[in-house]
Amino acid sequence: MAGELTIGGLECLFTGSVWAEGPLWVPSSRTVRWSDIPNDRILEFDPATGTTREYAVGVEYTNGRTLDADGSVVQCSHGRRRVERDSEGTVTRLVDSFEGRRLNSPNDVVVASDAAIWFTDPPYGILPGTKEGHEGEQEYGGCNVFRFEPATGVLTAVITDLVHPNGLAFSPDESVLYVADTAGSRYGVPLRIAAYSVDHGTCGPRIGALELEDGYPADGLRVDVEGRIWTSAGPSVRVYTPSFQLLDTIKVPETVSNLCFGGPDGQDLYLTATTSLYRIRTTTTDAAARTFPPNHN
Ligand code: MG
Repeated sequence: MAGELTIGGLECLFTGSVWAEGPLWVPSSRTVRWSDIPNDRILEFDPATGTTREYAVGVEYTNGRTLDADGSVVQCSHGRRRVERDSEGTVTRLVDSFEGRRLNSPNDVVVASDAAIWFTDPPYGILPGTKEGHEGEQEYGGCNVFRFEPATGVLTAVITDLVHPNGLAFSPDESVLYVADTAGSRYGVPLRIAAYSVDHGTCGPRIGALELEDGYPADGLRVDVEGRIWTSAGPSVRVYTPSFQLLDTIKVPETVSNLCFGGPDGQDLYLTATTSLYRIRTTTTDAAARTFPPNHN
């Protein structure tokens, strides 16, 4: 099915965060932007200079982010319990409540080709003692995956049968949505990636699930143009076929939280892993790059 896949060596680009998450290649600045959640800041790495700077501080604990169709950044904020847009540094609310109740702490987000924003809403930013947000109540009583239509303001709960939905990504034709569930045995469920059929913005039943071989959690994940699933998996990145056959394991010295494709040709894989940002050269690109080419401005 797939073109030949080659995966290069691991480069460490930056060390100095507490818990790095939410990497995104930002085409307009040709940088990788990511969250250092407990330090409540957003960092940015410029591959042209090899340097990292603070993009913003006091950001209310941002986590995952993605590109909108206009090139602006859509990101999750634990502290504001919302999904928001960052357009050239101006941050505005997109959605923060469901049926009149506040969201938990949106974790990760993708934008579909119809401009709908799909995001997960586990409780990690409101749990007692959290260092990734502010303690609070789960107001609507669940942890859903939501679909938000910016044009109409309609928010729909599309998946309600996962315990702590976390990373998510569409297959290249957007007919399947993969969602990691990081709840685990404390909640009586396996650490897993669940697959759901999707049709015209409607999510169907679960059609499959992967339990990682050695019990590592999958947090953030991406899908490449060939439909392969690239997921964080403890101190590694795993690559799977669309039907969850393991293709490759990339060992990393720290626990990996999330990843993104980027770079000048979209074939660099950037990893956020605890204190560090890493890069791996590949021969593939993100599935969504067809909609959002990595070099568009
Ligand atoms: Mg996450």
